[in-house]
Amino acid sequence: ASSAPLLTVRGLEGWYGESHVLHGIDIDVKAGEVVTLLGRNGAGKTTTLRAIIGILGRRSGSIVYDGVETIGMASRKIAKLGLGYVPEERGIFSSLTVQENLMLPPRVKPGGMSVAEIHTLFPNLKERAGSQGTKLSGGEQQMLAIGRILRTGAKLILLDEPTEGLAPVIVQQIGRTIQKLKADGYTIVLVEQNFRFAQTLADRHFVIEQGRVIDQIHNADLDANIDKLHAYLGV
Ligand code: ATP
Repeated sequence: ASSAPLLTVRGLEGWYGESHVLHGIDIDVKAGEVVTLLGRNGAGKTTTLRAIIGILGRRSGSIVYDGVETIGMASRKIAKLGLGYVPEERGIFSSLTVQENLMLPPRVKPGGMSVAEIHTLFPNLKERAGSQGTKLSGGEQQMLAIGRILRTGAKLILLDEPTEGLAPVIVQQIGRTIQKLKADGYTIVLVEQNFRFAQTLADRHFVIEQGRVIDQIHNADLDANIDKLHAYLGV
């Protein structure tokens, strides 16, 4: 059965000051899908996530989430629709404990995960509940950044390179977490450099180059398109 997309991005343009970096991004994401944004450094992947969550200073075009046009909305209002953003730099407050970091973002929707559920998902966070943010490993910081957003009740999760710099065993754990979230009905937009990792999770991949979506590849077709993908990514 085909369903209307949960998120539809059309002709999205975005700027940093006078610098025009998004030139007409088109993306659609169905409820329950995992999609990735692939592309070289500087292609505009992070900026696309920032535009969707409404923290990019200047953007135009159309971003419809669950039937609501969000292009003119403040980021706080967009979050309240049920969107959550986990930035690449994770944003863990080093002066706060793990537990305090977890409780920091306000709930935006009913049905967010409880602390107990987050501890089940990430047992490390339970063990470390009283530790300062600074004492965490990179993997634990990533778990905290994801757990914190799940507590808010967001149902569309934007994840920017969650596996960057992490050991393979932690990458696998993050991968299993994303699979579990998908099984639980979350919708995920994932920026990922490692397309082999992305391949284990995603339904579709959008290739971004110079601020435009230049191709869309269904996950089942990824291997057949591997030469093309290598050319896009310059690997
Ligand atoms: P990366 O993996 O390197 O983050 P990306 O595809 O996510 O790549 P973006 O971070 O979205 O790329 O960057 C898109 C363009 O915008 C790049 O040319 C980058 O230099 C520029 N840019 C990013 N952040 C800023 C900023 N704060 N001010 C000005 N220009 C920026």
